[in-house]
Amino acid sequence: MNIHEHQAKAVLAEFGAPVPRGFAAFTPDEAAAAAEKLGTPVFVVKSQIHAGGRGKGKFEGLGPDAKGGVRVVKSVEEVRLNAEEMLGRVLVTHQTGPKGKQVNRLYIEEGAAIAKEFYLSLLVDRASSKVSVVASTEGGMDIEDVAHSTPEKIHTFTIDPATGVWPTHTRALAKALGLTGALAKEAASLLNQLYTAFMAKDMAMLEINPLIVTADDHLRVLDAKLSFDGNSLFRHPDIKALRDESEEDPKEIEASKYDLAYIALDGEIGCMVNGAGLAMATMDIIKLYGAEPANFLDVGGGASKEKVTAAFKIITADPAVKGILVNIFGGIMRCDIIAEGVIAAVKEVGLQVPLVVRLEGTNVELGKKIISESGLNVIAANDLSDGAEKIVAAVKGAR
Ligand code: GDP
Ligand code: MN
Repeated sequence: MNIHEHQAKAVLAEFGAPVPRGFAAFTPDEAAAAAEKLGTPVFVVKSQIHAGGRGKGKFEGLGPDAKGGVRVVKSVEEVRLNAEEMLGRVLVTHQTGPKGKQVNRLYIEEGAAIAKEFYLSLLVDRASSKVSVVASTEGGMDIEDVAHSTPEKIHTFTIDPATGVWPTHTRALAKALGLTGALAKEAASLLNQLYTAFMAKDMAMLEINPLIVTADDHLRVLDAKLSFDGNSLFRHPDIKALRDESEEDPKEIEASKYDLAYIALDGEIGCMVNGAGLAMATMDIIKLYGAEPANFLDVGGGASKEKVTAAFKIITADPAVKGILVNIFGGIMRCDIIAEGVIAAVKEVGLQVPLVVRLEGTNVELGKKIISESGLNVIAANDLSDGAEKIVAAVKGAR
């Protein structure tokens, strides 16, 4: 789960990390009041969306020369005017995709005088079962670009959760960022604070870009992006409360209500599968036959008819879906339950696109019988590749 920058900064501040002062604002009045309260000579008006690249982003309808999603201004009145222009407007960045994201809230922050910009992130490294720290002197830009053009400027080391942060780690960070003396000490405290926060809140990723050295020689977290392990949210009600559903795909929100593992994708073939491995294999084989999956969907082991119905509705509600492939290997899941769920859903919402069903395993004969007697226009498939081939052919043929 992702949260907004202002929320991320509040979480990090709980652990003592140095973040600028600021207030969230949902209206131009609130933005002006926030600036008034800050009382600083310089303010930063920051769009709060779950995507990076805001500074270089473009607002829809403002033309290519307009300022981006992060604006440095010098008066309360300018804060208000910029807030009026930004709120409710769609911001397109390289991370939002061409559709962009509507800016519904702003963060009004005290402005910082920047001497240097660094990059610093922590993430779970599955390969080593440790926490990776990535640091670079090339802050404020895309870390992917840095990795591509000047890989030698990216430094990585890992922290073992069994031992935590050691002096070797803090020295490695100071060295990577070229810091000595008091700034090296600040970097050491910061690493301890970030690592403690990372572990305490079950983060999957913590990214600070940029981490800055201020003109008066202090480290400060200027931008922060946190994402949390969704499986651990049950033990962090404070983090769970930060969820902003307006930032998420409505189809994914609907799916999460039914405990379905669903991820929306860009393709045209909706998939309903049981088991994550089979779902991945189904997506692969759709690609092999020349089409793209519209989603990942694992209905899980013991899915009920209601769950299957909900899953099918979510798939059919997606206008990008031009065909549906149901691929079930009935183990714990019974094929007749799937068949009943599909039929119930089709009766409720109708079926506008070709549907291929491949059933195998427990109660397969009953499942096939239910479908063939339903009068639905279903294309039956014998195995996985047959199913993929048939749905791709049906979708391409319908064009
Ligand atoms: P992003 O574009 O979504 O990554 O948003 P950031 O929060 O990283 O802001 C983009 C850029 O705006 C930063 O890299 C800084 O160069 C600039 N910026 C942000 N806050 C301040 C500030 O307080 N003072 C100054 N001078 N620049 C800032
Ligand atoms: Mn940034």
